Amino acid sequence: MTSPGPINGEHPIPHHPIRSARIFGDDGEESVVATVYCPVQERSTTVPECESCRRFHALHFDATARTTSVLCHSGPAGRGAERGDLLRGVGGPLEPETPLADIMTRDVICVRPEVTVDEITTLLVRHGISGMPVVDAEGKPVGMVSRADVLRAAQERGDTEELERLTLRADDVAPLDIEQGFHVYEPVKTTARDVMTPVVVQLHESASIRQAASLMAYEGVHRLAVTSDDGKVVGILSSLDVLRWFGRSCGYLIPPARKRA
Ligand code: SF4
Repeated sequence: MTSPGPINGEHPIPHHPIRSARIFGDDGEESVVATVYCPVQERSTTVPECESCRRFHALHFDATARTTSVLCHSGPAGRGAERGDLLRGVGGPLEPETPLADIMTRDVICVRPEVTVDEITTLLVRHGISGMPVVDAEGKPVGMVSRADVLRAAQERGDTEELERLTLRADDVAPLDIEQGFHVYEPVKTTARDVMTPVVVQLHESASIRQAASLMAYEGVHRLAVTSDDGKVVGILSSLDVLRWFGRSCGYLIPPARKRA
């Protein structure tokens, strides 16, 4: 990785932030889909595609903003341009047509529908998030699962110490004398598919903050999935992201989110 900036007195090379969707499967397997918005092709493209592009210059990591970017000779930086400088955008004009890609969370945790609620709970706690998209095999959103969904599932399941103590697995009952005609069943695992909201409120990455705020308010949701041309998740926008943008536009110095909403 190299540093961006003037080379031989020339203009800085544009850098385009990398968005990564980390998708967790039911077997604990994790896959990462890394994309950038290409201003030349006017669509999202994968990082490997960039690395084989003749315009590609380097990958860059900005420790302050905790972002990684593709540097390439693509003319002016496109939408979703790097905002490593914390002062950038502070006190500027309140521009509601700003692309939501500029303020969305670019590192998204996603789960497949088969992932259990217990695993989702672990991800929510580990990453300090309050919800995540549920995606199909292609990375397209099929639902949203939130902390409230997980809590509701736990309540409906009646998770208590007493139930834990009384829950029997097939192995546990081998020595037990089960009367003829009775059976022992494995407890059914509750999965993302069972608890998610099967409707995804989403917007294309080219949509504006104005559209995003209006849609979230209209639908009464705190987060929406941001998708690329092919319908895959490339980011997530929370109501807190919009508030941070509003605060910065009003002149407050607000650092990037430590935890994703
Ligand atoms: S490296 Fe090529 S494909 Fe990638 S953003 Fe730049 S111009 Fe687009």
